[in-house]
Amino acid sequence: QRPAQAPTLPPLAALSAPQLTWNDTSPHSDAFDDVYFSREDGRAETEHVFLGANRLPERFAAWQASRAFVIGETGFGTGLNMLCAWACFEQNAPADARLHLLSTEKFPLSREALTRALSAWPSLASYSQVLCALWPDAVSGIHRLHLSERVTLDLHFGDTTERLNLLDGQVDAWFLDGFAPSKNPDMWQPELFEAMAARSRPGATFATFTCAGIVKRGLKAAGFHWQKVPGFGRKREMLAGGIETPPTDARRSATPWFMPPTHRDAHHVVVIGAGLAGSSVAAALAKRGKRVTVIERDAPGAGGSGNRQGALYVKLAVDTNLQSRFYLAGLLYSQRQFGQLAAAHPQEPPLWQPCGVVQLALSDKEATRQRRFMAHHPLPASVVSAHTDTTLSELAGVPVSASQGLYYPQAGWARPKRLCEQWLHHPRITVQQGDVTGLAQTSEQTPRWQVALANGERLQADHVVIATASLANRFTQTAELSLQQVRGQVSELTLPEGTQTPDKVVCAGGYVSPSIENVLTFGASFVPNDATSHVIDKEHQRNIDELRQALPEWVAALEASGISLRPESLEGRAAVRAASPDKTPYAGPVPNAAAWQRDYAVLRKDASKVPSIPGEHYPGLWISTAHGSRGLASAPLCAEVIASRLCDEPLPVEQPLVDHLHPGRRLITALVRAQ
Ligand code: SAM
Repeated sequence: QRPAQAPTLPPLAALSAPQLTWNDTSPHSDAFDDVYFSREDGRAETEHVFLGANRLPERFAAWQASRAFVIGETGFGTGLNMLCAWACFEQNAPADARLHLLSTEKFPLSREALTRALSAWPSLASYSQVLCALWPDAVSGIHRLHLSERVTLDLHFGDTTERLNLLDGQVDAWFLDGFAPSKNPDMWQPELFEAMAARSRPGATFATFTCAGIVKRGLKAAGFHWQKVPGFGRKREMLAGGIETPPTDARRSATPWFMPPTHRDAHHVVVIGAGLAGSSVAAALAKRGKRVTVIERDAPGAGGSGNRQGALYVKLAVDTNLQSRFYLAGLLYSQRQFGQLAAAHPQEPPLWQPCGVVQLALSDKEATRQRRFMAHHPLPASVVSAHTDTTLSELAGVPVSASQGLYYPQAGWARPKRLCEQWLHHPRITVQQGDVTGLAQTSEQTPRWQVALANGERLQADHVVIATASLANRFTQTAELSLQQVRGQVSELTLPEGTQTPDKVVCAGGYVSPSIENVLTFGASFVPNDATSHVIDKEHQRNIDELRQALPEWVAALEASGISLRPESLEGRAAVRAASPDKTPYAGPVPNAAAWQRDYAVLRKDASKVPSIPGEHYPGLWISTAHGSRGLASAPLCAEVIASRLCDEPLPVEQPLVDHLHPGRRLITALVRAQ
């Protein structure tokens, strides 16, 4: 029997906002000819149908588990159901409980429509304000919103069934919403109920407003039991029920090596490395109630994450591929997360400045690439748009050399070192200076880790996350991980007070940011297989050349005003970054390479003979590295990937992307290539 196919990530879909007719604050969908919520008392209806029938007040009150309670919904609409669930959780759950909401939506409302619809519920104002402020752009995929320190919402933009089939996570209670089956028959198909069953925890419940035969039959066939219970208001009946023994997840039979390791509780986690990768993962774990000790040899943000300024931007591929999709998701996530962090911790100069990024096409080849990119990717202008000629210079705030470019209005620059410090500033995080020399498992039954430091100290931990960039494969357990050291040098030029610098981050070969504190930062060099970190003139010169190429008129004007743009007049900083051979970060559990080579040896002879052996991992050992020079875009989302898996919660990216980031992927590629 051939193994089932692993799911593939569908291309980015163009998402259109729904056509609405308003009755004051109550939206009606023109396409489906149905209402989003009951005009009389939508909130009471939600509380009866979705919260009551799922017994949420009681279940929240009794929630003791170390993981989050997970609610899954079909059709986010105005978010009324989810906001009511959040309010109910705040009223009933113990102080240390956490809630994870996930909801699909194929026709996301605009922020204006969302705000208008939610204004119908003044008693939910404090919740709806948070949602509206974080509301993402209409891009298909998963958008993770941190609604509060303990409540997370994943919006899965796209078709419900497709999205649930891509979901890596399990649900405790379902809100089976969506317009009435008679108005939206395409959604209420057997595949929807099968996908729900496959993503359910044992004992998961569901509730729905409808009693339609197609729903009853579909739920039953998928393994749910149901009963009719009194409906809300004039509706006589609705359905509620659950599933005791959900089907096993067949999706990984084609790729058993990516099967997640068995969940183990975590009380204390040691994170090695306090750069962007380590600090963001420490913050993601502390938020989830874990006690975290971060061990850093130097100081937070001392290595590749220590620059004064770093640009948050990505270069996306023309033909959509998993790597490019991951970076797009990372960009959107970082933009939102940095914005939230900067708003919570205002400072001057800011932690994060979403000034926008202009990507110049300096060659015909790049211009063609950008045109093809825009034709292939149905992305809204609020994410990226194409520009030509003078508009590019107007955008940049200084004359640019290119006649074509892309503009990412919500990207910008951050202060990486300050970001690391902010992430680490948490009551559950301790930062300790030290040099980790080795990791050892203490017992086979309940494996814990002993973390050995150079000063002879030994720390005990339930889980360990390695986030030491190019040094991440220095441990016995990670020695097989292929990592390249890449040297990068940024240049810094101090300018006289009042000198006009670009308004936006401008990038072409390298990048230049708006100046802060009268210092212009530009660069950076990218020298593979070089682990040195002293500043050298040759790379300053290279950075100057690239700056001159991107902004020739502006550089000429600077020089005409007497500013010297020569290596001798520059300060700078060089550091070593880590890259993987395929340039995708590694984020996930650490595979036991010897076990993989043994268990999957047959792939050397016949790649179609997939043994049904789950991948063996070092229990409780994780890694986040190979962020190259794009750590601002990749590290925060990778931190969520690791923290979500470690805490047994839904993942923030689709399963194909989770697998794409897996630290064991190259072991399998090597076996298959050896054929
Ligand atoms: N739960 C919502 C609330 O609290 O406001 C109300 C949901 S509204 C009645 C139904 C939602 O399902 C709409 O937003 C609609 O766009 C969405 N929808 C309909 N068909 C869908 C599909 N196939 N995939 C994803 N969303 C869909």
